[in-house]
Amino acid sequence: MKTRNSRNLYRRYKFIWCFLFSVLIVLMQTYPQIQGGTVYAQEEAPTGEGENEQTMMEVSEQNQIVVVIDPGHGGENLGGEFEDYTEKEMTMIVANAMREELEKYEGITVYMTRTGDQELSLEERAEYAKSVNADFLFCLHFNMSEHHTLFGAECWVSAFGENYSKGYSFASVEIDMLQELGLYSRGIKTRLNDRGTDYYGIIRQSVERDIPCVLIEHCHLDQENDQPFYDHNEKLLTFGKLDATAVAKYFQLSSEALGVDYSNYQNVYVNVPSNVVAPDRTEPDICMIEVVDQNMQSGEVRVQVSAADYDSGMLYYTYSYDNGQNFSELQRWPDKSADTFEFTMQVPPRIMPQIVVNGYNGYDLYTTSNMISLPSMDYKTVEEIAAELAEQAALESVSEAVQSEKEQSKVVHTRKIPEQEPAKPLSFTYFLTVCVVCALLVLAMTISMVLILGGRKRKRRGRRRKRKKRK
Ligand SMILES: [Zn+2]
Repeated sequence: MKTRNSRNLYRRYKFIWCFLFSVLIVLMQTYPQIQGGTVYAQEEAPTGEGENEQTMMEVSEQNQIVVVIDPGHGGENLGGEFEDYTEKEMTMIVANAMREELEKYEGITVYMTRTGDQELSLEERAEYAKSVNADFLFCLHFNMSEHHTLFGAECWVSAFGENYSKGYSFASVEIDMLQELGLYSRGIKTRLNDRGTDYYGIIRQSVERDIPCVLIEHCHLDQENDQPFYDHNEKLLTFGKLDATAVAKYFQLSSEALGVDYSNYQNVYVNVPSNVVAPDRTEPDICMIEVVDQNMQSGEVRVQVSAADYDSGMLYYTYSYDNGQNFSELQRWPDKSADTFEFTMQVPPRIMPQIVVNGYNGYDLYTTSNMISLPSMDYKTVEEIAAELAEQAALESVSEAVQSEKEQSKVVHTRKIPEQEPAKPLSFTYFLTVCVVCALLVLAMTISMVLILGGRKRKRRGRRRKRKKRK
């Protein structure tokens, strides 16, 4: 009965069962697409088929941004090395932090060219970015300079068309934030090779694949001005977060997790250049100095500098008081929007100061100023005053030592004197004794002489008496 009933039930609702079964199959087929969502949609290269086109449309509708982070160097290619720091490791730390932070934003997919310590060619990196349909490639680096003199952060962008304007626009956000962190901005620049294409391989390879690329040189490893910005892992994580925030601002992203909304962030508008944006290959146009004040008592000389570079602006200056034989370390240009500023330099005493200044432009090319000779200043330096004071103190301590020695010898004398003083009366008594003894001797001799003479007289008298008796 039961089996017959169930068979009847199946026959009666045959169509309903078929409908339910087909709905289940459709659901099972679409489920992976729902779950994978937009995140992995772009990994499968769109081939122009209906379904994929629809997925891409969904992506663009949702404004899903795809970015690729490229931690510079890797494997055998160590990059810059300074003290205990190796660039390939630093870029990896920054990249991981950048990715972690960026993934807290909505509407963005983040990829990395490498997650381990492997060597990749620049072409492979750009090709990878192309394979994931990247909207932008961010290449992370740390810098070093030939003479270990340069300091600050800089961004390199393509010299061509839209890649220039997009690159410059993002780099403006990045550089502003690096400046807020306290780093000195070396600017946003282009560089060309001999063939007239972008000098940096990663930029050239990306641009060839129509992907805007910015090479971020966070700071210089080999200069003490920049060392405080990277000398701790925490600081590298700060760089990573900063880079991520710059990307979020540029793409006007929001993050519920972070509670930030950059949807109204105003990017710098950069015109798409019709010609190549060539790098600056000429020295600053002007560099002139004037001496404003010379303090003869302190050796301070106040100098006014007027310099300009109409291509890449002014970046650093150095000064010399020996007509350029020796220069100071590079100094920040105080205000890049001003052509004139004043600074004070310390000139040593007893030399004829011959002041010159080198003004550097954004591409580290310099122009030497006019030379100004000044009268020699005869003042005492802090070191000299300190040395004099030390000498004086030394002399005082020596004289004190001499005096105390004298005092000590006086003590010795006073000890001898009581020994000698009783000697004086002793010698006098001795003299007196000698005198008394002598006097006694003289007395004794006189007495004995008198006695002897007396005795002889008696004998003579006796003989005379005997002769008289005989007679
Ligand atoms: Zn590098």
